[in-house]
Amino acid sequence: MSARQLIQYWFAALLGLSVVLPAVAVEMSDHFALVKGYFPQADKVGELDGQPPSAPVYQGDHLLGYVFFTDDVIKMPAYSGKPIRTLVGFDMKGLITGVTIIHHEEPILVTGVTEQGLQKYNNQYLGVDVSKRVKIGGSERPGYKTIDGLSGASITAIVLNATITRGMREIAIARGLMTSQGKKKQETVQESLGDLYPLWQVVWQERVFKIVVLCLGLFVLLMILILQDWLVAHPTLLERIRTGYLIYTVTFIGWYALAQLSVVNVLTFINSFVHGFSWENFMIDPMLFILWGFVAMTLLLWGRGVYCGWLCPFGATQELLFRIGAKLKLPSFEFPEAVHVRLWAIKYLILLALFGLSMQSLVMAERYAEVEPFKTVFTLHFQREWGYILYALGLLSISLFNRKFYCRYVCALGASLTFPAKFRIFDWLRRRKECGRPCRTCETECEVRAIQPTGEINVNECHYCLDCQVTYWNAYKCPPLVEKRKRRERFAKTPES
Ligand code: SF4
Ligand code: SF4
Repeated sequence: MSARQLIQYWFAALLGLSVVLPAVAVEMSDHFALVKGYFPQADKVGELDGQPPSAPVYQGDHLLGYVFFTDDVIKMPAYSGKPIRTLVGFDMKGLITGVTIIHHEEPILVTGVTEQGLQKYNNQYLGVDVSKRVKIGGSERPGYKTIDGLSGASITAIVLNATITRGMREIAIARGLMTSQGKKKQETVQESLGDLYPLWQVVWQERVFKIVVLCLGLFVLLMILILQDWLVAHPTLLERIRTGYLIYTVTFIGWYALAQLSVVNVLTFINSFVHGFSWENFMIDPMLFILWGFVAMTLLLWGRGVYCGWLCPFGATQELLFRIGAKLKLPSFEFPEAVHVRLWAIKYLILLALFGLSMQSLVMAERYAEVEPFKTVFTLHFQREWGYILYALGLLSISLFNRKFYCRYVCALGASLTFPAKFRIFDWLRRRKECGRPCRTCETECEVRAIQPTGEINVNECHYCLDCQVTYWNAYKCPPLVEKRKRRERFAKTPES
């Protein structure tokens, strides 16, 4: 017995059955206009009834089909961690006649997908047979109907698809619809139901190529980190590896695999402890799950810099743009030190505001998290309203002149990563006693100005680009080493007395 039924019976005990049943029917009657859209001949919709619950739709006494709410049948959490409530109708031949989302808390549907886009997605289900399985994207396969996904909302689309098709099958069987359609069809349906893996497993199987390429990329990065002392002594090689890696991050992680992390992930994670943590919710997107796992490890070992300097697609885009600007000899500008360190505070204030909002409403926080241009650039590939596009392009253009402007001053995600990094274990960025006093060579070279005038590295701001380490080992640049080298050379030249 479902919680919903328990509540109904409880009310029934208090108020009498005659009060309860119409109350249930009213809910479906509230949606009669939609039901009429699914079944134009309909003049009546019955009560939600049965297990799982569905409501019959009539023309006079003639049964036309059934309607049901997907979350009454399958409580599958979507990206937001909450189920999506969709009203689905199908006729007596087992063909879908209508699909409408009634309620959801999906951030991407709020800000990234237009009403028409959603309607277009839902319309693809019209006429789909209950015995067919529906797959999103990819090549055609026998026994499957292939539909287009929702651009930028792949997880939401997967959950919608699973709840619509699985829900419909369960109801078709519960209502005996399949027996009236012949043995063969029933067998097909039973077979399909036997395939009900947990959703996250289905997604992981579908994305095996992306998972393998991501894991290989992370392994390469791990090797770079482990071999960093050797690599910094080979600056040309390091420079090539780093440029190649940044291009991989932008094109594969960001543009192709849509695995740009977001402060929304952080807020959802924190919220999950309040509203019920579930591994399945986080495993539903394998790319984000693996990336976050890796980031969590590197945060504790090396600090936030590994993600920001190597794995963030937006950070990598800015860095590459700045290099292009330098190649084009565009002028660059820097804020005075006193302004620069004060501007750091902005990102923490944004993070605090978003965190406060998320405690009130995650959906609202997600709207304001649009301060991140990530969704516009990577998730939606600039396919959205011009205001968002201008904002993202504006930030990217600034990075041609000011290195990683967004990262340094605005990024709430970067700010959130500084907290766990406080517990980091390794401190592999070397300094000399001369750093800061009197030498300030690395300080002026640091891509994000994370080296303080006193010579210490501010790990909260460091992006682990390793530039300062290259200088650290450079006997032609690092003054104490230059001094030593010169002494050695003088000594070598001195004729033996
Ligand atoms: S500061 Fe933000 S945008 Fe910059 S690299 Fe880090 S997470 Fe990416
Ligand atoms: S130059 Fe050094 S301190 Fe600056 S971001 Fe790179 S590794 Fe960090």
